[in-house]
Amino acid sequence: MPHYQAVKGARDIFPEEMARWKYVEGVIHSIAALYGFSEIRTPIFEYTELFQRGIGSTTDIVGKEMFSFQPDPQGRSITLRPEMTAGVMRAALQKNILSSAPVHKLYYISELFRKERPQAGRQRQFSQFGAELLGVSSSAAVAEVITLMMQLFESLGVHSLCLRINSLGDTEDRLRYRSALQSYFAPYHDQLDDSSKERLEKNPLRILDSKNPAMQELVAGAPRLYDYLSASAVAEFEKVLFYLSERSISYQIDYRLVRGLDYYSHAAFEVTSPALGAQDAIGGGGRYDGLARELGNASDLPAAGFAVGMERLLMTMEKQGLFTTLNPQGPLVCVVTQQQELEDHAMQIAWRLRKAGISTETDLASRSMKAQMREANRMRAAYALFVGAEELSTGLYSLKNLLTSEQTTLSLDAVIEILREPLLREQVRS
Ligand code: AMP
Repeated sequence: MPHYQAVKGARDIFPEEMARWKYVEGVIHSIAALYGFSEIRTPIFEYTELFQRGIGSTTDIVGKEMFSFQPDPQGRSITLRPEMTAGVMRAALQKNILSSAPVHKLYYISELFRKERPQAGRQRQFSQFGAELLGVSSSAAVAEVITLMMQLFESLGVHSLCLRINSLGDTEDRLRYRSALQSYFAPYHDQLDDSSKERLEKNPLRILDSKNPAMQELVAGAPRLYDYLSASAVAEFEKVLFYLSERSISYQIDYRLVRGLDYYSHAAFEVTSPALGAQDAIGGGGRYDGLARELGNASDLPAAGFAVGMERLLMTMEKQGLFTTLNPQGPLVCVVTQQQELEDHAMQIAWRLRKAGISTETDLASRSMKAQMREANRMRAAYALFVGAEELSTGLYSLKNLLTSEQTTLSLDAVIEILREPLLREQVRS
């Protein structure tokens, strides 16, 4: 077995695909800025209890999907982050950022790690773009993060997505519902699978999330959380729906939507993409006011956010043919040597062009001029600059536009001046 195999569930992104990532990331940065969100980066690992206490110990993630290890025999266990929200909240609490400004809008594009069985659309290392709005507990805040997410999809041209939304109410609503669910499932105890039996005690809501087809029929007959919501929770939810309708964002109410994590309250939502296979969730989120207290803060901290899976977003875009006009950028100019003795001089010229801010390639492998020209075309360079004996003696160089085949003879300073013209660079590359 060769030693150059990536770990199962992890993948490489080569330059051609990287161009797509950069493009999508660029759109994310601009949309986030439109809504006043600033970027945050947190460590790739955290103490394990952050996720155990934050996400809730009955979730699949904490139960069986975390990569945890002990850095030294006496050390505290640490875990590669399986999600970002807990880390962002930890960072906000640790730095006490809400004392300086009551509202914080943060976003990230980060790698996560989950020990799930790898399959199409499900990796063990993957990335999410997410936004977290901290400090305001309102329907307006939830509507704002949903709107941001939907504007991103729209700006990228992604279509046919389905936004499903539900309200999980507040803690009391869920407690009442929890006992109702337990009473409903109790007579069917023997028909429950092992994980549902475990959930029945600790967190019966999660039975509704079960992917086991054998559970579907039982789940279908279960009472609806929505019917246990207080009047104020219903009013709050309706306000979110009002904002979405006002902004022409279509949605479906899905009374069975509970989401995998324990810390959600009130609105929770998920977006699915028909362009994906079995793993069709592209993003989701909701309100999680209780997370801060779970993490040991004296009180709840209002918060709303979402996370979008980057790989699944890119996969949807690819399936919808949205990358056809996007090509990786080539160098602006290739310095081509006509005689091998002039290689060093060509490299010196390439260095001068790069110092002047012009993206430049030159041959490092002593290839023939024909091979260098082939390479320039393969890289989609816009210009070739020829270096031969004559150029060296006169100080005048031939610059060939590879799109039009037009050739001009110029001093190096004039070449630099032309190639530095930003408008020209945009034109030749687009
Ligand atoms: P979650 O944090 O589980 O709500 O996930 C949010 C989004 O991340 C999902 O909608 C997916 O798009 C993406 N995602 C979750 N798990 C994976 C995974 N194992 N591999 C790739 N993408 C994932």
